Amino acid sequence: MDADAIVIGAGPAGLMLANELGLAGVRTVVVERLPEPVGHSKALNLQPRTAEVLELRGRLDPLLGRALGRLPAGHFAGLPVPLDYTPWDTRHPYQVGIPQDRVEAYLEEHLGGYGIPLLRGHEVTSVEDDGEGVTVAATGGVTLRGRYAVGCDGGRSTVRRLIGVPFPGRDGRISAVVVDITLKGRDEWVPSQWRLPQLTPRQGWVAMMLPLADGVFRFLFSGPEQQTLDRDAPVTEAEVSRALRATSGDGTELGELRWTSRFNDAARQAERYRTGRVLLAGDAAHVHSPAGGQGMNLGMQDAFNLGWKLAGEIQGWAPAGLLDSYHTERHPVAARVLAHTRAQAILMSHDEDAGPLRGVFTDLMRLPDANRYLAGMVGGLDVRYDIPGEHPLLGARMPDLDLTVGDGGTRVSSLLHGGRGLLLEFGDEPRHAGTASNWPARVDHRTARATRDIGASAVLIRPDGHVCWAGAPGEAPTDALNRWFGRPCRE
Ligand SMILES: Cc1cc2nc3c(=O)[nH]c(=O)nc-3n(C[C@H](O)[C@H](O)[C@H](O)COP(=O)(O)OP(=O)(O)OC[C@H]3O[C@@H](n4cnc5c(N)ncnc54)[C@H](O)[C@@H]3O)c2cc1C
Repeated sequence: MDADAIVIGAGPAGLMLANELGLAGVRTVVVERLPEPVGHSKALNLQPRTAEVLELRGRLDPLLGRALGRLPAGHFAGLPVPLDYTPWDTRHPYQVGIPQDRVEAYLEEHLGGYGIPLLRGHEVTSVEDDGEGVTVAATGGVTLRGRYAVGCDGGRSTVRRLIGVPFPGRDGRISAVVVDITLKGRDEWVPSQWRLPQLTPRQGWVAMMLPLADGVFRFLFSGPEQQTLDRDAPVTEAEVSRALRATSGDGTELGELRWTSRFNDAARQAERYRTGRVLLAGDAAHVHSPAGGQGMNLGMQDAFNLGWKLAGEIQGWAPAGLLDSYHTERHPVAARVLAHTRAQAILMSHDEDAGPLRGVFTDLMRLPDANRYLAGMVGGLDVRYDIPGEHPLLGARMPDLDLTVGDGGTRVSSLLHGGRGLLLEFGDEPRHAGTASNWPARVDHRTARATRDIGASAVLIRPDGHVCWAGAPGEAPTDALNRWFGRPCRE
């Protein structure tokens, strides 16, 4: 075997996965078609849950240092009432404004530390799973043999096609353009004032303007003309100028055109995320409209769910069904994102009844419960996996509590930096230390005092920060340890 895991595609999903595998000590190689990074960004944001998962590995602060700013809210279909993340129990009730290429560059920089090669300039053309391993062939004479391969190769995934996974859904109905531009005589929206995009509906047009850095603006628009143009038709200055005139209404004029792309609201999802020894993650597993700013976030969170499970399978300790739970847990999450981005696309559409619908939704979003519901969905904060039991935290994100361990202060997130499970007991008496010691290198044990009672005397937290057991005094975590971390090393 050349590697235990072959990751195909060095976008945000592939790079996040490679980092997780590297942290777990899995021999990994990444293969990427492009000889160098694209140098432009589709996504511009980290949603709160992505900020949380990065924090679980100690990677958030360095990324904040590369960010454009923080946006204390989210948006739903560009409606004027912001999504308020603060009612959710999170330390990060905001979006980080950061271009996708900076996130990718940061994640790529860490591969070397894990000894993970990134083979650039090689397009994967063949993936063959013979039951014992996977052979991946790529242009430039590259052939690799691995135990597992993961297609993180984007919406038009070659891996998905090669392994014959159906991608049901529908094609795009609304075509739109995204450009990065400067504006003549307008540079007052500058860094640190990263603002919430707002939809401007105007006689058959919808548009959003978002300030980036150094007087550059992200302008998204969709009007009658865009519906007639082919996806591969070049975006011209004349087309952008016409859109600016039609949507700004204040004589705003185009300066320079820095980057252009066309996109649509196609909505499709892979029927299965695992086929034998080949898995799919990120856009390779799901595509949807960029409404709300979620695609990159969803892919990074897929990778975070998959990394430790695949590591467990490769290292031979994964219990039956653990790797399959990647599909069971993540498929419904993306299905829901597809559903609500489709709903957003209707709200953002040119249909004459979309106006009244926007009005109704705007009113609804002023109701705290409705706003919280949508904020949880868009921010990825409401994800709760199906883990049976009564405790409200089961399957949900573990709150990042302040803790006192011995004489020192820490937080739950800091105890998960190593990417292992965590059996955390509240109080002073370590009742389960002996039990946990039977899963060394897979599960850490800590006894801590917490600033807040969460209704359990101990919790078992998976490496991805989700709670898989919450016990009262007298209850033992043994079954849950077996269920999630396999057979004990010492019995
Ligand atoms: C206009 C627009 C705006 C967006 N805005 C946002 C936003 O604000 N927030 C957000 O969260 N998301 C946003 N998205 C979505 C986001 O950009 C994607 O969801 C994200 O890029 C998906 O990451 P990925 O790693 O799955 O795939 P990709 O980023 O597509 O990466 C796939 C990688 O695989 C490589 N590859 C492809 N085929 C092969 C092959 N055969 N062999 C080897 N390598 C291969 C590609 O070169 C690429 O590097 C936006 C999308 C668009 C179109």
